[in-house]
Amino acid sequence: MKILALGAGGFIGSHLTERLLRDGYAVTGVDTHSDKLTDALKHPSFTFVATDIADRRFDLDAAVRAADLVIDLIAYANPGLYIRMPLEVFRLNFTENLRIAESCVRHGRRLIQFSSCEVYGKSVAGIAAGDLADPDDPKHATFNEEESPMIMGPVGKHRWIYASAKSLLERVLHAYGLEGRLDYTIVRPFNFIGPRIDYLPSQQDGIPRVFSYFMDALLNGGRMLLVDGGRQRRTYTHIADAVDCIARMVARPGAAHNQIFNVGARGNEVSIRGLAELMREIYAARFRLPGQPLAEIAEVSGREFYGEGYDDSDRRIPDIAKARSLLGWEPRYDLRATLDDAMGYYVAMTRGQA
Ligand code: UDP
Repeated sequence: MKILALGAGGFIGSHLTERLLRDGYAVTGVDTHSDKLTDALKHPSFTFVATDIADRRFDLDAAVRAADLVIDLIAYANPGLYIRMPLEVFRLNFTENLRIAESCVRHGRRLIQFSSCEVYGKSVAGIAAGDLADPDDPKHATFNEEESPMIMGPVGKHRWIYASAKSLLERVLHAYGLEGRLDYTIVRPFNFIGPRIDYLPSQQDGIPRVFSYFMDALLNGGRMLLVDGGRQRRTYTHIADAVDCIARMVARPGAAHNQIFNVGARGNEVSIRGLAELMREIYAARFRLPGQPLAEIAEVSGREFYGEGYDDSDRRIPDIAKARSLLGWEPRYDLRATLDDAMGYYVAMTRGQA
């Protein structure tokens, strides 16, 4: 089977490409950069096309026609970018992704579309804690693909343009599915993390995710900043568990036909403050150089850190019953092992060992 992986050069794309090649598929990867694909580039069944998907010289229809399955990972997926360039986020995450979906419709190709757990927005407890007997009960923040409503913030909080673009795209795919014109599978990742995630902000311009900020502070000095007190909670999923789930969707087209899947390790929930503390503890135990001071934890407001228009998702726990029953999938890495691997990668990289 031939797979077209659009956005293969990113963090998730590079790990997924390696896994698909190991599973025996031929993969054509498309991306603007290939620096995370060093292993895949050596593989005889891998072809890399360096292009921006928006570059009309790239013949998208021909690439889709030549594949049996299209996996679309193209996205701007870092909250910092939703604040800095909301229109660009909409253009890539909706307009360009729609073009890919419509090409799959035209050529009758199966599509695995990466979406986001951000589409669920805020939890019920996040907007109405005062009305709940026990707002901390995980059931108020556990999201189910078929049942949960999607609660976005107001338009003025432009963080939500990302989630809105992704959720509209999902609705378009669903509508094509209803008309019997598209065989799709939608993936909603819950904070995948692992080697090669993002970059260290001291080494590259931009606003990566929290893990990279904390890692940078631990490695290079500075403070681990908790936005709005670090009360927000996330469930972190090891990238190896995540790609194992996607590989099952690839291998079982019948089970995954026109389905949406939450992909996340529900047991790995942690507050951002808890994440800072655990990373500090792991760093001190495993990676700290003799005499190296340990980064301090401090607080900052969302507006100071991101600018106007920032809003947050308070808590999100995936219901993974569907991935369990249809794909036989179960995440294996706990939070500590997940962080160990991601942190170990950055430590080795900065010390010239990776
Ligand atoms: N955050 C933080 N300190 C940082 C960067 C982010 O406290 O240096 C917070 C951010 O406000 C959010 C959480 O960490 O509540 C996770 O943000 P991230 O950018 O990793 O992505 P998200 O999980 O929101 O997609």
